[in-house]
Amino acid sequence: MDFGGESVLSSDLWNKAQAVFAGGVNSPVRAAVKPFPFYTRSAKGAYLVTEDSRRLIDFVLGYGPLILGHAHPKVIEAVKDQLERGWLYGTPSRAEVELASMITKHVPSAQKVRFVNSGTEATMTALRLSRGFTGRSKILKFDGNYHGAHDYVLIDAGSAASEFGVPFSQGIPTEVSSTVLVCPYNDLTCVETVLKREEIAGVIVEPVMGNMGVIPPEKDFLPGLRKLTREYGSVLIFDEVITGFRLGLGGAQSYFGVTPDLTTLGKIIGGGFPIGAVCGRKEIMDQLTPSGRVFNAGTFNANPISMTAGIATIQELEKKEVYTVSERAARVLAEEIDRAIKMDHVVNRVYNFFQFFLGVKDVRNANDARKAKRDLYVKVHESLLKEGVFIPPSQFEALFTSGAHDDDVVNESARVFKKVLEDLT
Ligand code: PMP
Repeated sequence: MDFGGESVLSSDLWNKAQAVFAGGVNSPVRAAVKPFPFYTRSAKGAYLVTEDSRRLIDFVLGYGPLILGHAHPKVIEAVKDQLERGWLYGTPSRAEVELASMITKHVPSAQKVRFVNSGTEATMTALRLSRGFTGRSKILKFDGNYHGAHDYVLIDAGSAASEFGVPFSQGIPTEVSSTVLVCPYNDLTCVETVLKREEIAGVIVEPVMGNMGVIPPEKDFLPGLRKLTREYGSVLIFDEVITGFRLGLGGAQSYFGVTPDLTTLGKIIGGGFPIGAVCGRKEIMDQLTPSGRVFNAGTFNANPISMTAGIATIQELEKKEVYTVSERAARVLAEEIDRAIKMDHVVNRVYNFFQFFLGVKDVRNANDARKAKRDLYVKVHESLLKEGVFIPPSQFEALFTSGAHDDDVVNESARVFKKVLEDLT
């Protein structure tokens, strides 16, 4: 692999970074790699190459978007072509119509789409839409679900918010937090109690929890949410920022056969470039400006580069091979990990993403995940990294596979997982 140019050591970069960035980083989970984060110099397929000239097999994949692997030639070609033609017009472009058509074709709930620039913006917009549409103010979310970094969802949030001990962020007005109700994941009794008691505008849920490790929905959970939200007149929002186009072209809603009113997307639909989207039922989406009175706007909304990368990515996904390869990789490795760990543990996998939990027997909600031996997980992360395999540095993230995780990558990783996990006590 070509490392290109001169190396700068990660340790030197980290020293400089600490002076200019709070906590040394621009997104907190990156600081969880100890004693300091490695700096990536280039990436291709299933591999990262660090500034210290190490090659690592990557199961983080930008925290989910890179389902084709790094630097896929089809995405490079499409983005290069778009770059030559300019990258920001301030007008609509053909690419946004094409990408939206792909989304409405594949995602069952998607009748109309609004592109934004991150998953955070997508959930913020979807929740505002649910309030505008119903004329109610309160929302219901689930403990440990992560929906981005805006005020309404940093309450009992998973992912880095939990990893760094601030599931309930400081700086959120009580006027806002008092409008957010929280239930445990997989707990329909709690949902029914809240919906009966309160006027809830929207219920937002990760259809598979991917931000406290991986936690699948129990059989009745998503159908139950669908039934209860209909009964009580609340908008059901599936946050498919991770699962959209990962669990197949139709995301979790096709995988589990439950259609929400609104869906938030991000990550994969931008092919690794910044993106978010809200899509859903026409009469709700039409509440958005300029057709309606729920405001949303953005200088970079539907920017041609993210649109083009998204189109190229979904075109590859439509060939299905990427799903076959990524599912096989996740299945084989999850089985290998399950076999190798001798202590109590859980390996939760849904299709092509998974996570393991140590020292527990069952993980069906955030509280169960919090009981896992996180210090031991971190040790495993560190040992794997020494052996050339990069998994998330936090228990509260997921391992992802891609179309680049072929048999060679899987075999090499399996050997490393086995070696590290069999030594675990
Ligand atoms: N929703 C979910 C389910 C996510 O996993 C994330 C990010 N990991 C977000 C929303 C926020 O997306 P972004 O980081 O693009 O703002």
